Amino acid sequence: MGLDPHVLRGDFPILRREVNGKPLVYFDNAASSQKPRQVIEAMTEYYFNHHANVHRGAHTLSVEATEMYEGVRRKVARFLGAADPASVIFTRNTTEAMNLVAHSWARSVLEPGDEIVVTAAEHHANLVPWHLLAAERGVAVRGVGLRPDHRVDLDELEEVVGERTRLVSTWHMSNVLGVINPIARIAELAHRVGALLLVDGAQAAPHLPVDVEALGADFYAISGHKMCGPTGAGALWARPEILREMPPFLGGGEMIRKVFLDSSTYADIPMRFEAGTPNIAEVIGLGAAVDYLETIGLDAIFEHDQALVRYALERLQALQGVTLYGPEGDDRGGILAFNIDGIHPHDVATALDQEGIAVRAGHHCAQPLMRTLNAQAMARASFYFYNTEGEIDRLVDAVAKAREFFAAFA
Ligand code: PLP
Repeated sequence: MGLDPHVLRGDFPILRREVNGKPLVYFDNAASSQKPRQVIEAMTEYYFNHHANVHRGAHTLSVEATEMYEGVRRKVARFLGAADPASVIFTRNTTEAMNLVAHSWARSVLEPGDEIVVTAAEHHANLVPWHLLAAERGVAVRGVGLRPDHRVDLDELEEVVGERTRLVSTWHMSNVLGVINPIARIAELAHRVGALLLVDGAQAAPHLPVDVEALGADFYAISGHKMCGPTGAGALWARPEILREMPPFLGGGEMIRKVFLDSSTYADIPMRFEAGTPNIAEVIGLGAAVDYLETIGLDAIFEHDQALVRYALERLQALQGVTLYGPEGDDRGGILAFNIDGIHPHDVATALDQEGIAVRAGHHCAQPLMRTLNAQAMARASFYFYNTEGEIDRLVDAVAKAREFFAAFA
């Protein structure tokens, strides 16, 4: 059953806004999605009626807050297809989740000469943590290129993944190309040599059903704010047997078993990785976001995103002087990066903003990909279930108008 974006929009107060005198078209969902009333109200309700610190008190409010917080852990586990809620660690976002893996797992396991394999299209959150580690530990980061159709070159991946590979780390859906990586196949290649697979799920988890078991992932990182949740709540899922072997990430309250003046022992998972007071209200907001997305249905969301991107590709392809990035096909989600000949993408974004249309412009935290595709920067429209074909028509009209406007100065 398809979804009706016109009905769902009613849940998003911000979508009633005008920008520069025009109804807002919000096409910057890959950076951060908007929040439905249900999420905002869940957080307000928590603060109005239940707030206290979690895991600490015998008093009623603390017990209620703890139950709400831990309930979200169970929800996120189910959302990701994970059997054990203790395998979900709350983080601020994907970036923190990936840094947790780098800091805790990689620092305790990797040795000089070991290799981490990534692709040419990674977000910086999946590069810089490994660079920091490489400088400290003498491990090498090896990159795999893209095929001309902008999909990862799996033949090259197969060649590069070898006996020194300890980790393959890559995106599930690219934040620039919109393409979905064949994660199950990549997992096979990694596991064949005994390496682990870390999946950057920042863009996939909000838009398509995820089953970490079926994917064969060992780690999976998500950001709540890209999936209708608030900022400040994300998660790392990891195989519990791997997590149990990992040393703590941050030290402090909540993550300990016993503390002496000169030493400490640490709690079991998941608490071992959640030092200090967590973002309780934000996690509760994330739980409401998971409920909200599941009510719509992730299959329906993905189908809608795909229909929008197919329509946008078709309409923008018809315009001269517009370069579109990413492949066409069923393995393509609702992200569309583009350039207009002779106009800097920042100018494109400014011109679109004049029409009330929010897109992002820049390198999208993917500088190696920009180099690979010979682009300094790109404009990017990214869709969600509350976007409509009519909004894409407005984008296309605005792109055509911007092209004409700038042509006058050429
Ligand atoms: N990975 C990908 C593919 C992303 O698109 C993003 C954010 O845009 C991130 C990681 C980082 O997400 P966050 O800033 O929420 O940590």
